[in-house]
Order: sequence, then structure tokens, then C-alpha cells
Amino acid sequence: RANPLRTAALVEKLQPARLEFVAYDTPYSAAFDDVYHSALGGPAQARHVFLAGNELPARWQKRDRFVILETGFGTGLNFLATWHAWRDDPQHCRRLHFISFEKHPFTLADLATCQQAWPEFAELAAELQQKWPPLVPGMHRLHLNGGQVILTLTFGDAATQLRAIDASVDAFFLDGFSPPKNPELWSPHFCKGLARLSAPGATLATWSVAGHVRQALKDAEFEVAKRPGYVGKRQMLVGHFRSRRPDRHLAPADRRAIVIGAGIAGSTTAHALACAGWQVTVLEQAGEPATGASGNIAGVLRPLPSADDNRLSRLTRAGYLATRALLGRLPEARWAACGVLHLGREPLHEAQQRRAVEQLGWPPEVVQFIEREAAADKLGWPVDTGGWWFPNGGWVQPSSLCRAALAAFPERLTVRYNTPLDRLQQTAHGWQALAADGSVLADAPVVIMASGHAAPRFAQFAWLPQRAARGQVSHLPASATPPLDVVVCKLGYAMPAIDGLRLIGATLQGGDTDTSIRAIDHQENLARLNLSLPGFTAGIDPATLAGRVGFRPISPDRLPIVGPVPDPAAASPNTRLHNLPRQPGLWCVQGFGARGIVWSALMADLLVSRLEGEPLPLESDLVDACDPGRFLLKAARRNTEESDDTT
Ligand code: SAM
Repeated sequence: RANPLRTAALVEKLQPARLEFVAYDTPYSAAFDDVYHSALGGPAQARHVFLAGNELPARWQKRDRFVILETGFGTGLNFLATWHAWRDDPQHCRRLHFISFEKHPFTLADLATCQQAWPEFAELAAELQQKWPPLVPGMHRLHLNGGQVILTLTFGDAATQLRAIDASVDAFFLDGFSPPKNPELWSPHFCKGLARLSAPGATLATWSVAGHVRQALKDAEFEVAKRPGYVGKRQMLVGHFRSRRPDRHLAPADRRAIVIGAGIAGSTTAHALACAGWQVTVLEQAGEPATGASGNIAGVLRPLPSADDNRLSRLTRAGYLATRALLGRLPEARWAACGVLHLGREPLHEAQQRRAVEQLGWPPEVVQFIEREAAADKLGWPVDTGGWWFPNGGWVQPSSLCRAALAAFPERLTVRYNTPLDRLQQTAHGWQALAADGSVLADAPVVIMASGHAAPRFAQFAWLPQRAARGQVSHLPASATPPLDVVVCKLGYAMPAIDGLRLIGATLQGGDTDTSIRAIDHQENLARLNLSLPGFTAGIDPATLAGRVGFRPISPDRLPIVGPVPDPAAASPNTRLHNLPRQPGLWCVQGFGARGIVWSALMADLLVSRLEGEPLPLESDLVDACDPGRFLLKAARRNTEESDDTT
């Protein structure tokens, strides 16, 4: 057997920028031997070259949305200048998307130091800094200006990550360091990548007029022209995309949707839709939100790293950060960043955890490895192993998150409780949600299924390979155990006391439909906790405990199932995911399993971005990893392989 300590592939660690200044307090990169912006006035250069060079603000005026892509985020100057111009323009587009990359992001402290130089942007800079993500690789989405300015920032190499972007871009800000010092951001291959992302009529602007850059852009179907440069530079370059290829990312004409289910998936999706301007009706069979799998007192919020930063590691990291960001926007949601301690199961696992932390190089505010003694200190209880410490992880009360999400846009979001859906019926213009007596509960062009384990009951979702797994949690009177200030997990988990109760859990039983609370399952939860904290629950009689049973919607690969619903009859072994026919107007946010808190904010954002044709908040391979069509294609391929074997 392969040694798991040896086989993990090396991942590239993110190296933050080292801030230095040269003449006139101009930020400078020693690594690239170049300045971040002109020494003769940063904001003015941004306006002259990048905004005016792309005919902004005029081109975004009266548009529904406008998408800008920049090649190097640096100090955030171009972004702040753009956001500022948008904010001051009464005719600005409704939503502004700004996509950018940064291979060497600044730490928050250095970013703040740079941004001090521009008092005119102070208010915007403060909001950006407040939402500045930890320096971990991958895509980060920042919802700014009440959700109307959306920054999608990839920490990583634009040369390799450009292809992970799915967007239709109206304006490019080409702002790498100078071509001789930073050639990968100006190469013919990179320019072709920009062309792939171009919306019809896309424009570009840059201060570089280097001959090979002009040629690379021309070869990528951009028509380029020189213009007078900013002070100190005779010329700059503008360009526009010549191709008349139609846009694949059209915005919907009618923004009305029905969401089925007011659990954590449905509530956060309805919230994201309403934030994007949709009129949303949520149908919920129960009398209140979060009565199914999302009804536990609390759930754990933390990422799940792996030394090779596999898909689950990348997705849970993005999900963890997205949920943290959503909680920041919903102050009524109840949660605590008390920290999560994930103890090693045994010495080998502990060694893998240590190695993952070393190899990933994430900042200590995201994850640390702590030794057994430090772990025992945090827990106030002796333990056998050390483990991962997530200082900003914690617990979230899902029902409070649902309520806060559903209440945020009362003018656009209606929840109808005690309204069970019986079936969906397609119409000429979309879908009708029908009650058991055939009456129409609601109709809209778009329906989003978010009903957790119940979804496969509906005809259009019968193909969904999701199974329901019974899970029971136990409620211990907090006074019956020693105190505990952090969330601890190993094979099970235990929470700090919430309203006098300590939640421990959880069992997971596929194919078990029993809804009753069972003493034997309490026993199992206690036994699991005893493996983490030996003796912690000594003397507690399982027969005296209260608890809760929920049914988790589990997908075969444990990843969420989010996107447009495929037509199950249309999958053939040669179909590619992107060409798989979909059922018009039908979408789903399913398969959250026991990770609703980690998945919900990110998946809601993903779903709405796909529906809107907006830039996606996740790298393309992760979008595909969550696509509902993946199972059908896998099954179609498996079937052909099997029939090949038998012939
Ligand atoms: N637009 C920035 C601003 O407003 O401050 C200035 C950008 S500066 C001229 C170039 C930026 O590109 C630097 O922040 C640099 O770290 C970044 N960069 C260079 N090579 C990169 C790459 N391959 N991928 C992503 N970012 C890169």
C-alpha cells in the first residue's frame, strides 16, 4: 500500500507580496523589479489608462451588468478607482463585476498601507479591507456595495488560472508588470485566453505598446490602436474584440423563480436570488424554515484540508469562506467563531494532518497544527493526539441563518409555509408548482429544487442519485459535562454549550427511515465522543437524553449537486457536460449531506451566477464537480464500457 505521507503531490504555496516603496512613495515589487503604478499619480493613471481607455463610465451606463477583467490586482488601485467611478455615476449599470488575479497578494496590513495613499477612496478601501480574504489559493468572491459590486479575485497564477474562469467580459485592464519582466501575462497564449472570455464588443486598455503585445492581441482577434499615454508615457494601447461570435452568457429576461424548500439550501439560494434582483417565492411544506436536516441546534463551520489540496479541500475552503462572508452580511444569524479542533484519529492520521498544514502553507488564521498538549489546553481536557486547529471556524445555528437569509429582502422574497408541493408541471412559459388537489401554488419561468432528501420524489428528479441518510444528534444538559469552549471533532463532534445544551453527534445510517429518537444512537454518540475526550461524558445515561433525527441528502461522491437539471434521456457516452441537454428552467441545489453550513452560501452564489450568466464564483473544474449532469454522463459511460465487455 502506498504510504499516504509520501504520496501527496506538492502544492504550490501562495507567496505574499513584499511591500517596498521607491521614489514618490510608489509601491514597488523587488521580485519583478517594477512599480505597481506610475510614480506620477496612481488614481489619475488608473482613470486615464484603464477607465477612459475602455470608454468608461460611458460603456456601462444603462446596462444591466458590466464585467471587467484585470490581470494583476496588486494594490487594488484600479479596482478602487473603478468602483469609485461606478458609485459616482448616476447612470451606472445595475451590477458591476470585477474579476482579477493576484499571484502574490498583499497581506491585509500591507494592502491597508498602500491604500492609505488615496484618501478619496478611503470609504471603499475600508470595505474592501474588511472583506479581504485570508491568503489562501483559489477564487474568492467579495460582495461589496450591498452586493451590487462583485469582486471575483483569484489568488494564484493568472497564466494558469485564466482558463478556470467562466465569464463574458466587457472590458480588460491589462496591468501585469512590464512585458519583459512579467512575460506570461502578455504572451500570445494568454491573449488567446482573453479572447475566449470576450463578450461581443469587448474592449481592452493598457499602458504597454510593445510590438509583440500588439501582435499577440491582433492574433487573438483584437483590433488595437495607440492613444496618448498618461503623463510621462507618450502612448498607450486600446483595443476592441472583432469577433461577432454570439454571447453564451445571456441574462434572463424574466427574473422570477420558485424555490422548493426553506432549509439551508433553499433559504440561502432564495436570498442570493433576491439580492440579484429576482422575485422569489419559496414553498415550504412545514410551518417554519429549517425543519429537516437543517434543523439541528448548530452545525460545524470549518474547511477540510488535504495535503494535495484535492477537490474537497478546495471546495470546502471556498465554502467555509463564503459562509463566513455571508454571516458577515446577515448579522441576525446566530453563530460563534469559537474555533474548531479536529483531533487526529491516531498517530498516522495526526502525522498526515501535520504534513498537510506544512505542505499547504495556509496562514495560521485559517489552519494550524497543534500538538497534543496545546490541544488539551484548548479543550481543558486530556487528549491522545494533537490535530488541526481552525481558529476562525466555529458553530452556526442553521435555522437562524435560514431566517436571516429569508428576511433580508422582504420586497422581493415571499415564503409560503404549510405549502407542500405535490408536483411540477411544465407550461409554455416555465413551470407551475401544483398542490395535491391540482391547484396552482405558484408559477414562474424558473424552479429551483432545494428540498433536501425529498427531491427524488418529484418526477423531474427521479434520476437524482441522492440517498437519504438518517442522522441523530444528542442534546446533553451542559451542566452534565465539564465546560468546553471550542468545537471538537474526531469521529464525532461536540459543541460548546448553546442555551444550556451541548450538542454531540452524529450517527449516519443510510437506508434507515426510522424517525424516532433511539437510545442506542445516543449511546453511539457518547461512545464516539469518548474516543475524542475520554471520560468527558462519564455517568451520562443515554436513556435520559433528548436529541433530534434528520435525513441528510447524500450524493454518491459527497459533493453538492448544483446547477441546471439535465434531461436524463439525453445523456450518451460521448456527450460532454457542457453540451448535455438540460430541462429548461429547472435547477437544483441538492446533495448537501451533512455539510449544509459549509456548502450553502457558495452553492447559492454558484447557482445564481449560472442562472444569471454572470462570472462564476468557482473555478471551472469545481463547477463541473458540482454539476447535476455528472452522474448521468458517468452512468452512460459505465453502461457502454459494460456492454463493450460483454461483446
Ligand atoms: N492593477 C494593480 C493595481 O491597481 O495596483 C497593479 C498591478 S501591478 C502593475 C502587476 C500585478 O500583477 C502585481 O500585483 C503582480 O504581483 C501581479 N502578477 C504578476 N504576474 C502574475 C501572474 N502570473 N498571475 C497573477 N498575478 C500576477
